[in-house]
Amino acid sequence: MTETYVVVGASLAGTRAVETLRTEGFDGRVVLVGAEHRLPYDRPPLSKELILGGRTPEDILLRESEYYYDNDIELLLGARVTGIEPHARRVRLDTKSVITADKVLICTGTAPRRPDIPGLDLDGVHFLRTVDDALAVRNGMQVGGSVVIVGGGLIGMELAASAVTLGNEVTVLERDDALLRRALGGRVGDRLTQWHRDRGVDIRTNARVTRLEGDHRVRRVHTADGGVIEADLVVIGIGVVPVDDLARDCGIEVDNGILVDEFGETSLSGVFAAGDVANGPNEFAGARVRLEHWQNAQSQGIAAARSMLGYREPYRDVPWFWSDQGELNIQAAGRIRADDAVVVRGNPEEMDFTQFHLRDGVVTAAIGVNRRRDVRAAMAMIDKQMRPDPALLSDPSVDLRTIGDATSPEPVGPR
Ligand code: NAP
Repeated sequence: MTETYVVVGASLAGTRAVETLRTEGFDGRVVLVGAEHRLPYDRPPLSKELILGGRTPEDILLRESEYYYDNDIELLLGARVTGIEPHARRVRLDTKSVITADKVLICTGTAPRRPDIPGLDLDGVHFLRTVDDALAVRNGMQVGGSVVIVGGGLIGMELAASAVTLGNEVTVLERDDALLRRALGGRVGDRLTQWHRDRGVDIRTNARVTRLEGDHRVRRVHTADGGVIEADLVVIGIGVVPVDDLARDCGIEVDNGILVDEFGETSLSGVFAAGDVANGPNEFAGARVRLEHWQNAQSQGIAAARSMLGYREPYRDVPWFWSDQGELNIQAAGRIRADDAVVVRGNPEEMDFTQFHLRDGVVTAAIGVNRRRDVRAAMAMIDKQMRPDPALLSDPSVDLRTIGDATSPEPVGPR
């Protein structure tokens, strides 16, 4: 009797999982269920290349359709799993079909958070999660005009940079007193705020949107301080919420996402979760975390598939993400906390620097702006919990790969 493994959610984590099942030699039935009607695709280009027109939806597919056929992966698109029966392990679909599964992996990701304000249904108001969302935003931006972005996080600022490049007037409304604070902390957030302002973005912090107004189409955005901003297009990027109701409904423990152990298994034996929806232990954070980034979705999808196959390898990845905003490439690794000690290397004024975060002398995080290699080197330090000499970290003439542990008896590398 061959086994059946069902993967719910056909985005990055789910697709990497089914690939892994096959590359690891699983010869049973593999079913990948996706709610969208499109082949699984990559999301990072949605706020950049797809908006700017450098890539099309076909260019960002994770795999061509033949891949699924050639690897005997049943791809059910435009279908939603409506229930998992915990004991019989039956997976019910909204198409009324039922699959008996030996193991299930849930990769349902997140959904955009919706603000509780009037006017969300007006034409010209968008969220940005899917290819269809991105195409609608692109169409709105290509005609030029006033773009208002609600939320100065990763989506908001990547999109702001794209919108300016296309010649739009852009206003960003952020409710916090700084941009990107959640993702990158206050210091780097402040630098990026200035950088976007210098590019012409009108950034308003401590802004609370109360109402979107228009006839059929959005025309104005109202804020609590009485401000009114003309708008041809409004994009809302105020964060996401985990899509964990499927798990909750079948009795799996959830708390800000689906709780998993170090092997990606949920509280229900044989049911796993990975990607943005999974909340699991992370030694670099020193706590449970639910990560909302590409690298984690990919690595956790692979790791969970290996766990389904019986490998007992605890998931252990240094958290890492990148964000391209205009000509800036920003990368962040580890866990950033507001009260970390900070060491800077390079030139922040010229947006060419790395900020290392240390706790009790141990490197715990790094943020690099146009400094890919520094962040790579920092990830190795974070992984090894190194305590480098801060003077060496900040000296741009020192090759980071040669820096040893300041507390180790070994000499540090050559300068
Ligand atoms: P995000 O990065 O969490 O940023 C949301 C921002 O909106 C935060 O600064 C938040 O402030 C602010 N906000 C919340 N409610 C608001 C309101 N009512 N009015 C104005 N501002 C408000 O989320 P996102 O930009 O929406 O991105 C969605 C998801 O996609 C995230 O998981 C993100 O990590 C992911 N993503 C990742 C990348 C990447 O890795 N490069 C790129 C794009 C998107 P508070 O912090 O005060 O709540």
